[in-house]
Amino acid sequence: MSEAHQSPISPGRSWYEDSVGERARYPSLDGSTRADVLVVGGGFTGLSAALHLARAGVDVVLCEAARLGDGASGRNGGQFGTGQRRWPEEMEDLYGPERARRLFAMAEDAKAGLHETMLREGIEADFRPGQISLAHRARYVDEFRRHADWLAERYDYPHLRFMDREETAGRLGSGVYHAGLRDVGTGHLHPMKLLVGLGRAARRAGARLHEDTKIEALTRGEGGLWQARTARGTVTAARVLLATNAHGGRLEPKSAAHVMPIRSFIASTEPLAEPHRVLPGNEAADDSRFVVRYFRKSADGRLLFGGREAYTSASGDIAGQIRRQVVSIWPHLSDVRFTHAWGGSVAVTMPRMPYVAEPQPGLDVIAGFSGHGVMLTHWLGRLYAGRLTGEGETLADLRDLDIPAFPGGTWLRAPLLFLAMTWYALRDRL
Ligand SMILES: Cc1cc2nc3c(=O)[nH]c(=O)nc-3n(C[C@H](O)[C@H](O)[C@H](O)COP(=O)(O)OP(=O)(O)OC[C@H]3O[C@@H](n4cnc5c(N)ncnc54)[C@H](O)[C@@H]3O)c2cc1C
Repeated sequence: MSEAHQSPISPGRSWYEDSVGERARYPSLDGSTRADVLVVGGGFTGLSAALHLARAGVDVVLCEAARLGDGASGRNGGQFGTGQRRWPEEMEDLYGPERARRLFAMAEDAKAGLHETMLREGIEADFRPGQISLAHRARYVDEFRRHADWLAERYDYPHLRFMDREETAGRLGSGVYHAGLRDVGTGHLHPMKLLVGLGRAARRAGARLHEDTKIEALTRGEGGLWQARTARGTVTAARVLLATNAHGGRLEPKSAAHVMPIRSFIASTEPLAEPHRVLPGNEAADDSRFVVRYFRKSADGRLLFGGREAYTSASGDIAGQIRRQVVSIWPHLSDVRFTHAWGGSVAVTMPRMPYVAEPQPGLDVIAGFSGHGVMLTHWLGRLYAGRLTGEGETLADLRDLDIPAFPGGTWLRAPLLFLAMTWYALRDRL
């Protein structure tokens, strides 16, 4: 068991926290230091960038305001998915077929790259193969069927298959969904184990990691060098990566307007008495709701169920609301005990594609994974490192997406989004 720790930036203590084992502590920065690159944010994106920069011999300092993983990376659903958050058929409409193909291929590289890193660095994170997507309305069934054909025929992706209602019910242990897709080319893992392993690997490679070290202000001074102010010191660096995702606040105001924080919540049960009655094949699952329900079993047979979003800071009775959603799928779980309930902040963008930009010279931002960052974050951190160490402009396809700012600017976007999301959430019930 790890020591009791409650994230100061995310509500509730997660089951991941209680099952990760020993977590190394990294010292807070006391005094002033210099580095080639300063990485702000100790989630998957920042740690991957720090790891790959350090492996290439770059002097890198990473500052994390809380503890590594206290943002989304240590508290999420752990599902990889396939491709980007948008399906390729939607991306073709938005960005044209060639770029859509490249973006899909990038996400496949991301999957392979994460497995490679885990293997190379000896990170054991309970990876399990398989993911199913579920149609909660009959009107999505044809779309699901077309999606499976599209991936097989146009994207040479042979691992995803359409499932009719009966097969879906068998794989889920419940007949409430109309159809499904089964993807055996992806999977899910324990995100905090991955996070802790990435931290250890980055440190071993020579990155200097500091927890409890919030960057309070960033200014560009003489010679174009960046000065980052913390409570007890400064970091001077030629380049800065902001990997703060939903937690960046207004540290860099230009990019803040492009990324919006949304709360998402998960609750976990005690180990199920009859685990074979729920997801007997141990796949992860998500559904077609706008306010998506996502769930899977842990390696020790608990149900981890995410299913509620909030667009304000209130978290309410997380477990109570999630219990109702669980019982609507598996009525036999009406008395199951929930041991943990927690939330985290997802960073979304208008088109639900990552925001990759250099809003000021030498200052890059990678954020806005829109609930699809478990495998992409690691890859984008690695591509960022590659870009700085001479592998070329590997992030070009994402940098040129021109993600628009949210309407209403950083002040009005929250109430406007609240209205829009409430409308979509209502549509889930129709
Ligand atoms: C409940 C939940 C469920 C999710 N489920 C899934 C899923 O199943 N599959 C999937 O693909 N994605 C999922 N996601 C999204 C995924 O977790 C994120 O895309 C990913 O973890 C983002 O990683 P990151 O490193 O970019 O950001 P984060 O992990 O959020 O890290 C940002 C860090 O920056 C730090 N920071 C911010 N400002 C400063 C500052 N000024 N100085 C220093 N540090 C600072 C924060 O403290 C934080 O630790 C989920 C997210 C949540 C919240």
